[in-house]
Amino acid sequence: MESKSKNIVIAHRGASGYLPEHTLASKAMAYAVGPDFLEQDLVLSKDNVPVVIHDIHLETVTNVAERFPDRQREDGRFYVIDFAFAELKQLQVTERFNSKTGEQVYKDRFPKGKSTFQLHSLQEEIEMIQGLNKSTGNDIGIYPEIKEPGFHHKEGKDISKIVLEVLSAYGYINKSDNCVLQCFDAKELKRIRKELNSALFLVQLTESNGAGSELKNYAEYADGVGPWYKQITPEYVRNAHDLGLKVHAFTFRADDLGEFESFDTLLDYGFNTMNFDGIFTDFPDKAIQFLEK
Ligand code: CA
Repeated sequence: MESKSKNIVIAHRGASGYLPEHTLASKAMAYAVGPDFLEQDLVLSKDNVPVVIHDIHLETVTNVAERFPDRQREDGRFYVIDFAFAELKQLQVTERFNSKTGEQVYKDRFPKGKSTFQLHSLQEEIEMIQGLNKSTGNDIGIYPEIKEPGFHHKEGKDISKIVLEVLSAYGYINKSDNCVLQCFDAKELKRIRKELNSALFLVQLTESNGAGSELKNYAEYADGVGPWYKQITPEYVRNAHDLGLKVHAFTFRADDLGEFESFDTLLDYGFNTMNFDGIFTDFPDKAIQFLEK
């Protein structure tokens, strides 16, 4: 990670613009277009397996409501943490949809309910990426995110400790090991550095829109900051850089352009106007093509 100082492309939930997010198929496609990192969002199963999934709930990307109809909590939601990994493996994963209306969120993406996809563990995904690194001779990194550590603690689980053990077992220990660990929870990320003594490259995700008064605090334990590109200013990026923090902004989507007229215009804004060091994107192929121009 340290050697890559500019224009990092992170495949956000894989090539999620083309295949259901966080499936191994989506990761394989993303790998093939050659980003710097593939992203893994992580939630623990009942039996403490780190599962690659964006939400602590299952009902917006799987058929859990049909497969296990009596396993919802009082709030009507199905929690990853209530299922053993072997049960999670029985679910079909699909393109993200609204669980109330059944409508898929991004209409022009992979059709909901088609083909067959499964959930998988962090270990399974690392083995695929490391296997591809061996068979292709490339060296693509991983970019895991600890999801909702406060929820996990309440459920009696130390997700950070478990994830760090898996990462260490696969050789991700230091900043040179091509792994970036990210989290929105500042208290937890600080704990990962100071109490769990991780030497990994750490990125503090944030929804802050300030000029960056919190950046000084982040710089005490993190190596980078991950803001929402719509919420911050070039000044924020300069302040982060002055503190030695890399800036990896989320999320660049070719089918969610906002006021930008094309994806290239949006990418130009991110890399050239804002001077981000890296971006999370659902369309890693398009970001790489833009950077090659
Ligand atoms: Ca994420």
